[in-house]
Amino acid sequence: MTTIDTLIVGQGLAGSLLAWALQRRGQRVLVLDDGHRSAASTVAAGLLNPITGQRLVKGPEVDECLPAAQGCYRELERELQRPLFHPLPIWRLFQGERECQAWEKRRADPAYQDYLGAPLPLMDSPAAPLGGFVQRHSGYLDTRALLAGMRERLQAMGCWRQEAVDYRQIVPGAQGVVYRDLSAKRLIFCEGWQARHNPWFADLPLAPSRGTILTLHSDAPWPSVILNQGRWLMPRGGGEYRLGASYDRERLEAAPDSEEIAALRQQLLRWFPAAPDYRITAVESAVRPNTRDKRPLLGVHPQYPGLGVFNGFGSRGSLLIPWHAERMAERLCDGLPLPEGVDIRRYG
Ligand SMILES: Cc1cc2nc3c(=O)[nH]c(=O)nc-3n(C[C@H](O)[C@H](O)[C@H](O)COP(=O)(O)OP(=O)(O)OC[C@H]3O[C@@H](n4cnc5c(N)ncnc54)[C@H](O)[C@@H]3O)c2cc1C
Repeated sequence: MTTIDTLIVGQGLAGSLLAWALQRRGQRVLVLDDGHRSAASTVAAGLLNPITGQRLVKGPEVDECLPAAQGCYRELERELQRPLFHPLPIWRLFQGERECQAWEKRRADPAYQDYLGAPLPLMDSPAAPLGGFVQRHSGYLDTRALLAGMRERLQAMGCWRQEAVDYRQIVPGAQGVVYRDLSAKRLIFCEGWQARHNPWFADLPLAPSRGTILTLHSDAPWPSVILNQGRWLMPRGGGEYRLGASYDRERLEAAPDSEEIAALRQQLLRWFPAAPDYRITAVESAVRPNTRDKRPLLGVHPQYPGLGVFNGFGSRGSLLIPWHAERMAERLCDGLPLPEGVDIRRYG
């Protein structure tokens, strides 16, 4: 038997950052991952966007989560010796009158002023006849670089194993949890949308959605900022761009299809009507671990306190996970209560 403090199932963004938060508190951690078979984190664009939707809402969690995310990624850049977070403004192009009115209202609100930059001039593009504005405190996280760096680090410490965890072999007891040759004080599930097969937390209100993203190469002089008009175009340097994303709640297991690809390409034509010159280098789909109330799912099992869950970060993992990983680590190591709105006990 190998004895550890915390066994983590899943090394997506959630499992990686929870492992990081626990190790910094001196915990002995072991992370098991099935080779990212179902990972959202390896496909995600990693956009960090504090103002969302056509109503331009800044959620109540943003003021805490944004500095936590920026600080966490800066620290991990030093630890893993690679760039991870790329600050970039977003040009929000109004989708219609409603968004335009929301902008007028928000710009007068002191809580929003730091996030909303200058108005964009009216553009020639037929896609943006109403103009738009520059959004600040945004950018993208290179999620693949973070996952690869974290895996290398954990492997070097002997704290990572490639394994598809079989739920039937998990044995929770009074003193902790046994899984095959491993004995741990606790086991935390971070399996993203695959949690819907988890018999220990069968009632979690997951509402997963599949998304498709294109990776493009173009030498055209496209803007070096993130364009966002419902769909978005994100420059990654060296002529590489990512274009996304579709949203599908029904066909979760489906491969990317020609309709999704055509709809994304159509958006590009609307922005750059003069037949843009580009080639598609990758088409990828994955499933977001959304929840019905759009809040994350953190907590421990009501009967087996050695089992816990850290999941439900939906479409906003890059922004939400670092702050919530700290709260989960405080709960597990110091017994502090979880913030009410994210504790799974809200479901009885
Ligand atoms: C198309 C798309 C675009 C997105 N864009 C953005 C964006 O721009 N900004 C943003 O913040 N978020 C975005 N997201 C959401 C983001 O990807 C998620 O919030 C985040 O990655 C969730 O991380 P996770 O670790 O919870 O889940 P995952 O990344 O899915 O990780 C779960 C891991 O557990 C493994 N696993 C599952 N079951 C087992 C098992 N039984 N045994 C072992 N391992 C197992 C999986 O293979 C995977 O490696 C996007 C998602 C998609 C799909």
